[in-house]
Amino acid sequence: MSFSRLHPHRLAATIFAFALSLTPFTTTAVAQQGQNRERAEAPSITSTVSSLVSLGANVLSPAARTVQSDPYYQFRNQRYTNEGLISERDEIALGNQLHVELQKKYRMTNEGQGRANTVGQRVARASQRPNIPYRFHVVQSNDINAFSIPGGHIYVTAGLMKFADDGELASVLSHEVGHVVARHSLKTLQASQFLGGIADLLGSIAGIAGEGAGQLGTAAARIVASGVLATHNREEEREADYLGVRSMPRAGYNPEGMVTMFQKLYQVSQKNHDLLGSLFNDHPDVEERILNTRYEVNRMNNQPRSRRRR
Ligand SMILES: [Zn+2]
Repeated sequence: MSFSRLHPHRLAATIFAFALSLTPFTTTAVAQQGQNRERAEAPSITSTVSSLVSLGANVLSPAARTVQSDPYYQFRNQRYTNEGLISERDEIALGNQLHVELQKKYRMTNEGQGRANTVGQRVARASQRPNIPYRFHVVQSNDINAFSIPGGHIYVTAGLMKFADDGELASVLSHEVGHVVARHSLKTLQASQFLGGIADLLGSIAGIAGEGAGQLGTAAARIVASGVLATHNREEEREADYLGVRSMPRAGYNPEGMVTMFQKLYQVSQKNHDLLGSLFNDHPDVEERILNTRYEVNRMNNQPRSRRRR
């Protein structure tokens, strides 16, 4: 999938994989990175569960069964930082440069931009990463999609804007903010070796725009052309769903909006294959996401307000 291949007839398929994360594959590097993260952050739960699973479900302890039925157990109580990645300041500078490149590939429109920004800022401020500048852009396209890049630039298509009510739009933007919170694209860039040298480049352009700035532009263009930013694995999508749905009540939106958004997308996929692209129909993912987000909405509804932290 590449940002550079946005011919209208390809856009639906390309873009929908993005919105619904129908990435049926996981790059080795990203998978490795995910494993490392799990090892670093939840070693006991992961190893306990996997060894218990291998013994068969009938010998699972009640505690392990609870962990297994919780689709988001590994994301709870996570804290996210730029540790091991480029600094937040550099991430934002890189994001701005990537945005310059994306504007060459996509036609942005002012129509609906105010609405996207109003809804987007609300969910961003309610996220676990409220203190970077978020920018919400509307892409002139009838397809239904949204995506994000490092540093807080988030994109939503005009087609999605028409398709979704404010609560549903909030769920999509909250999901995209979730990717930014968890630094998913930044981790992908690192796994793809794109981050090497970028911190040095950013250091060299701290002053005047010169040769270094040109090199950063070249690096950003290469990243956009490579399509690596379009890749999120299923774990990352699940994590963004989790972070997104949890932020919604804090932003003043009914989290049910995420469930209905997935339901609407599922219905469209049944009726209007062309709008969403061929990838979606072959993929069961969205049904799982309806169940998972429904689980989380019920869980939040049953939680005392005082415990409704992140
Ligand atoms: Zn996503």
